[in-house]
Amino acid sequence: MSGQKYVYFFGAGKADGDATMRNTLGGKGANLAEMINIGLPVPAGFTLNTEVCIHYSKTKGEYPEGVEAQVEEALAKVEEAMGAKFGCDTNPLLVSCRSGARESMPGMMDTVLNIGLNDTTVQALAKQSGNEAFAWDSYRRFVQMYGEVVMGMKGADEDPFEHALEAKREAAGVQYDSELNAEQLKELVAEFKTLIKEGTGKDFPTDPKQQIWGAIGAVFSSWDNDRAVVYRRDYGIPHEWGTACNVQAMVYGNLGDDCATGVGLTRNCSTGEPGFCGDYLINAQGEDVVAGIRTPKQIESTLSTDMPDGYKQLDDIGRKLEQHYKDVQDIEFTIQRGKVWMLQTRNAKRTGFAAVRIAVDMVNEGLVSKEQAITKRRIPADDLNQLLQPIFDPAEKEKAAKEGNLLTKGINAGPGAACGHICFSAEEAEAIYNRDNSAELVLVRRETSPEDLRGMRVSKGILTALGGASSHAALVSRQMGKACIVGASELKIDSVAGTITAGDKVLKNGDWISIDGFTGEVFAGKVETKPSEIVEVLISKTMKPEDSETYQRYEQLMSWVDDIRKLKVRTNADQPDQAAEAISFGAEGIGLCRTEHMFFHHLAEIREMIAAGDVESRTKAVNKLLPFQREDFSGIFRAMNGLPVTIRLLDPPLHEFLSDRHLEENPTLGEELANELGVTVDFIRRRVEELHELNPMLGHRGCRLGIVYPEITAMQARAIMEAACDVQKEGIDVYPEIMVPLAGFKTEFDNQANIIRAEAEKVLEEKGVKVDYLVGTMVELPRAAICADQIAETAEFFSFGTNDLTQTTLGMSRDDYGTFIGHYRENDIIPSDPFQTIDQDGVGRLMQTGVERGRSTRSGLKIGICGEHGGDPASVIFCHELGLDYVSCSPFRVPIARLSAAQAVLEEKA
Ligand code: ADP
Ligand code: MG
Ligand code: MG
Repeated sequence: MSGQKYVYFFGAGKADGDATMRNTLGGKGANLAEMINIGLPVPAGFTLNTEVCIHYSKTKGEYPEGVEAQVEEALAKVEEAMGAKFGCDTNPLLVSCRSGARESMPGMMDTVLNIGLNDTTVQALAKQSGNEAFAWDSYRRFVQMYGEVVMGMKGADEDPFEHALEAKREAAGVQYDSELNAEQLKELVAEFKTLIKEGTGKDFPTDPKQQIWGAIGAVFSSWDNDRAVVYRRDYGIPHEWGTACNVQAMVYGNLGDDCATGVGLTRNCSTGEPGFCGDYLINAQGEDVVAGIRTPKQIESTLSTDMPDGYKQLDDIGRKLEQHYKDVQDIEFTIQRGKVWMLQTRNAKRTGFAAVRIAVDMVNEGLVSKEQAITKRRIPADDLNQLLQPIFDPAEKEKAAKEGNLLTKGINAGPGAACGHICFSAEEAEAIYNRDNSAELVLVRRETSPEDLRGMRVSKGILTALGGASSHAALVSRQMGKACIVGASELKIDSVAGTITAGDKVLKNGDWISIDGFTGEVFAGKVETKPSEIVEVLISKTMKPEDSETYQRYEQLMSWVDDIRKLKVRTNADQPDQAAEAISFGAEGIGLCRTEHMFFHHLAEIREMIAAGDVESRTKAVNKLLPFQREDFSGIFRAMNGLPVTIRLLDPPLHEFLSDRHLEENPTLGEELANELGVTVDFIRRRVEELHELNPMLGHRGCRLGIVYPEITAMQARAIMEAACDVQKEGIDVYPEIMVPLAGFKTEFDNQANIIRAEAEKVLEEKGVKVDYLVGTMVELPRAAICADQIAETAEFFSFGTNDLTQTTLGMSRDDYGTFIGHYRENDIIPSDPFQTIDQDGVGRLMQTGVERGRSTRSGLKIGICGEHGGDPASVIFCHELGLDYVSCSPFRVPIARLSAAQAVLEEKA
């Protein structure tokens, strides 16, 4: 006998486990135990821990030694606590068998209810409850679930049980399952058993012990089902964790009209508004609410009149849970003959809007500290994005309504504005998106199920006819931050015909539809959007701060964030208006100003510069560019008003400006250039041919340009410094940081730095102004990171260009990796997209080397990051750990980076 503990009992006011044990008991099991420990009503049960699952999965169906005996022992305790006996033919105990992993994976794994029923125990249940229909309803549910989950009777698209159910409802002339009588349900049980026999060749097991082990095995197996595997990959949950299995005494919501089953939230997790909300169904069981079989009732509107006492119990429990967990709870409960039983609680998933509101409210209520309020778990930094996204313009909505395009109003389950082409199947949505990832789609379904996950991900919004605010569709869209409307029951959705009918209007597959997830309104056609409130206040200034509560809460939250974070946040911008926008979002400087973007506005001159055959004519062309560049830089310096600006010298290969393609597309271009430069068209053609490169990413670009054509570097340095002097003279402080791109050798950097410094000193002397400026380099080649100690001898700052650094470290072209990255992700070859999140083991270690070596020769070397990664939360946290001074990202990601930077500090403390 092994002495190891695998099975944890909970019940009779005491539990073996508690909330801290989610790694071994799973979230569900740990919190069931915790709820028992704080005195809440929870049916007794026990949890088989995740180790059992790991063992079961490794051995393909075996249990560690001792598990059987521990289950027997725990089951006996449950029997004692509930005063009933499992398999007993006079007083039977029924149990459920429920999956539950460390992180919640809603609906991905299996659960079986009403275990222990057979032809004998069902009679006892009927007699005991005095309700024959209830007993047979429970039995038919059990045979169905067991058939589906344990015996594998659920096909990919067809569920034979649902078919039989539908036929029975039709024959009986009723709309809902709950209206079937005992006799009809009895018939169904028999039919279901026949279906199982026909489908699997096996009999439905009548032995309760066999049933329980069958269900436990199925729960553990469901850890490895496709859906669960895909979900884990998408959400970065390790496959090695395994699920726990909870066996729990049944309570019944289907005993009559004083019974109900429901799910709820202790606050609205769509908007964040305080107050209990949720869905319930009277005389129903378990999944009925979530599955969207009937549109449920709303707790906040009718439960207090339907069941005043039940409502009060629930409200008290909700308060107690929030006080205890210090966070909004997402609960599952059953009301049995007026008494509320808790079946689950967990910290609720919420939209970005709700996350901000709840965080601010909870601090103001004194429930949590500022530090607690802004953790990564409560506000995933990416979710802030939702508050910055466009919303429907009210005027446009009014117009659409006047034109008769308002189809209906459903339940607003996920805030946001979404327009797209109607798509009736998740599979099709995915297929369309795979062909064209700019496709705008709205997924329209009667209800959604976990199979629809991937289709939901590629859609702009989700619309369902059935289900309530806690339905699968609602839950998942909120988590994904998608606009979502559920329970739009006036819409007749016929996915086979590909139509939505609303009154006399018919919309077809592919038609435009617009859904307002804030209000629940569904419009035919495309409704125009306008900026969000926060953007209106901060950027367009069309709204006053005092008129937007959303803005005020955002501002309060961000002030806490700024108090906590250590990393500075800059922006990547190369136009004054962009720079100004970024400052409104809290940027503290420009981390990357790309000069080539400015060049694209002066193509004629730059082409002349490129086509020039000798230094003299090149210098002439280059000098034509000088005033333009100077003006561009002045604009940026003024907009940044005293904040530092990192300007990168010309970087891309020159044929991006002038190539065969350009000559072909513009037949007079060759001639124009030839005239301007006083050469032949043939000469121009030859120059263009010379510029052609087989592998331009590794070709003549970056500092290699300035080394071969020093006139360009000198001109850019001059333009920057003249602009700096001019603006400084206007009384605005300027801090230019001139950045040399793509240096791998110290000699490369020095070559450029010498030109820059010489030109800069000249300008300062000419203008008679003092300007502090720095000359540094972008670290974007492995060699630069490795030789950082040498380069830092002369470079005054570093900025990691992680786009190129990833490209050059992984040897993966960022323009071509799309062809195989999907396959890589699906086969777990790499954990995430390295161009979105820093590959910490590879690129990250080079960065670490760069930081350490760089600061070994120049202590206090200023170091930042300016690749796409600067706005990715996980990467920002990593940059904090590396000890960088700042991250730089696009203007709309600045708030996200600020929050991530604060969360990095909190993670470090935790
Ligand atoms: P999921 O993880 O998919 O939510 P659960 O294990 O939570 O699956 O079970 C789904 C639902 O089944 C629960 O919300 C609850 O309504 C019902 N249920 C589970 N166990 C019991 C039980 N012991 N008594 C009554 N209902 C139960
Ligand atoms: Mg659940
Ligand atoms: Mg680069």
